Amino acid sequence: PVVTRFAPSPTGYLHIGGARTALFNWLYARARGGRFLLRIEDTDRARHNEAAVAAIIDGLSWLGLDWDGEPVSQYARRDRHAEVAHALLDKGAAYRCYMTPEETEAARERARAEQVRFESPWRDADPARAPADRPFAVRFKAPRAGETIVRDAVQGEVRFPNDALDDLILLRSDGAPTYNLAVVVDDHDMGVTHVVRGDDHLNNAARQQQIYEALGWRVPVFAHVPLIHGPDGKKLSKRHGALGVEAYRDDGFLPEGLANYLLRLGWSHGDDEIIPRERALEWFDIADINKAPARLDFEKLRHVNAHYVRTLTDDAFAEKAAPFIEAAGHALDEERRAMLVRAAPFLKERCATLKDVVEAGAFLFLARPLAVEGKAAKPLQKEGARALVKDVAALLTNEADWSDAAALDEALRNFAESRGLGFGQVGPALRAALTAGRPAPGLGETLYSLGRAESLARLADQAG
Ligand code: GLU
Repeated sequence: PVVTRFAPSPTGYLHIGGARTALFNWLYARARGGRFLLRIEDTDRARHNEAAVAAIIDGLSWLGLDWDGEPVSQYARRDRHAEVAHALLDKGAAYRCYMTPEETEAARERARAEQVRFESPWRDADPARAPADRPFAVRFKAPRAGETIVRDAVQGEVRFPNDALDDLILLRSDGAPTYNLAVVVDDHDMGVTHVVRGDDHLNNAARQQQIYEALGWRVPVFAHVPLIHGPDGKKLSKRHGALGVEAYRDDGFLPEGLANYLLRLGWSHGDDEIIPRERALEWFDIADINKAPARLDFEKLRHVNAHYVRTLTDDAFAEKAAPFIEAAGHALDEERRAMLVRAAPFLKERCATLKDVVEAGAFLFLARPLAVEGKAAKPLQKEGARALVKDVAALLTNEADWSDAAALDEALRNFAESRGLGFGQVGPALRAALTAGRPAPGLGETLYSLGRAESLARLADQAG
């Protein structure tokens, strides 16, 4: 059975590259009836804190990426890592290295100058010569000759000459396990069959594979995914904008939209752009992950997200948009919530993100009487415009059917016709009175969204 995992370091947010890695692992496992595990690589105790872990868990939950079992703490497994390091010592696949930091530094310097592989004098030293009272690190006895070939499901066969991979430390002299040891032991113990992660770990894969082999453990399938780059083609960084998924959530992206976009960023299925979760489960395969780095394209992200905004029900849209409206300073009472639901079909067409509703829906939440000023006031200053507004208000008071936008539009058209006027001679003044020049949908839709009471009140405010 397939077992995948996501193994983030708790940096304080769920990086979008990490989110994509998690998504790939989740899809691969879920589609095959396998397990998807979460391991927090929290060995850096100086930087470790609970909030940083919570941010990752929140991000995954928001994206709908559930994991099996409890999250595993890498730090909590340090005794097991040490145990395996000692097993490697016993097998002769590792050795005690008593070099001091100064000696190590000097030896590295020499190796660099002579362009040879750094090597500890303790590698082949007689264990009997070992000083009894000095702290030691446990170093891996990496093969000297030949090459290590990583057969990567994305990158293909990647060859590493062994003389380029020196004897890495498995256990520091304070007993702390190093990253490459911990990852191998954890992945093995967790039964991980497929390791899908960023290609910044490809070099580690070679070292990890050597450790697997020394232990006689089965090497998992490696799949190293090209990193996400910024729109300029450079490695993604803060200056390209938000790095954490929570920032996208706060910008009004839907988890479905962001996940769909991230899926397509680095993996493709023909030209399909909109790929909902069920389809992704059906189609995703590691073999189709692209080899070239993908560039973040914010316009495309908005475009994909807009699709998911449109597919929300009116009630769901209103509910999800409400916090953004409130954050923009508009209190939402019951009446205004009802307006938002009525306006939802029109706003959904105009919002790529939930946050766009702040602009697109501003006309709903204006305080009465509307301050119709500047250019927006022009149509009302025309001869007879305010009288026309008054007549329309009277008409709408008496006869219009307020249960649908098209009927209201129809009523306005009939009115214009009955006066021998073009719609263009009536519309702008009404629009000014109803929206004060804010972006708004069609007039019938605007009336319907505002509702009878608010619409008539706005018209009466501007009637002459
Ligand atoms: N903790 C590593 C990271 O956040 C991932 C290690 C792995 O996936 O093997 O980059």
